[in-house]
Amino acid sequence: MRPIGVLGGTFDPIHVGHLRSALELLETLDLAELRFVPAKQPPHRPLPRLDGASRARLISSAIRNQPGFVLDTRELSRPGPSYTVDTLAAMRAEAGDQPLCLILGTDAFLGLPKWHRWEKLLELAHIIVMGRPGTSLTLPGELGAVMADQLTRDGRELCERPAGCVYCWDGTPLAISATQIRSLIASGRSARYLVPDEVWNIILTEEMYKSDAI
Ligand code: ATP
Repeated sequence: MRPIGVLGGTFDPIHVGHLRSALELLETLDLAELRFVPAKQPPHRPLPRLDGASRARLISSAIRNQPGFVLDTRELSRPGPSYTVDTLAAMRAEAGDQPLCLILGTDAFLGLPKWHRWEKLLELAHIIVMGRPGTSLTLPGELGAVMADQLTRDGRELCERPAGCVYCWDGTPLAISATQIRSLIASGRSARYLVPDEVWNIILTEEMYKSDAI
């Protein structure tokens, strides 16, 4: 069965680094669909600058013309912190035995041991670690103990069972971050071409990210 990809994040705002990686993964892994799942209240970081509805609107405008890309707003409507383990448990209940692939940049993956019930994630989904410029993948301590035996280099394994593999993937390296975009705009500079034109037009028209806070 073709897997479903799940890319969570704050998407504050969504940018070309997210979108290009997502498209390359959709094609490389022949995913049935790739879901963008904006977090309402990320447990390990400050509240996003834009509210959930505005971030979802930017995602929606960015992915509108890409078959296979889907916006999933379930975390925005769920009360309390946005725990990925809860999101994957709900998706697993809906998906039956269809493989789920949780997609994480290397930075997010290395932070996993701080996540709520993180050891449970591999029971619910595969984990795809996507290379991100500036971070290198090593499996230290706790992470190594849980993940090292599950590493695979063979993408076909992801279709053969619903969950449990860790797959490392390097696509086109794009050193773009939402922090960089917020910081450019706050200092009066342009973030054009780091985000799709549709997203940039909304950001400009609605004067998003203009205040000093980054
Ligand atoms: P911020 O700068 O605010 O921390 P961000 O650019 O890292 O934001 P997030 O919404 O936090 O964006 O990222 C969601 C997911 O996408 C994370 O798993 C992150 O590692 C990954 N990601 C973000 N930017 C890139 C990129 N340029 N290349 C590959 N993966 C990325």
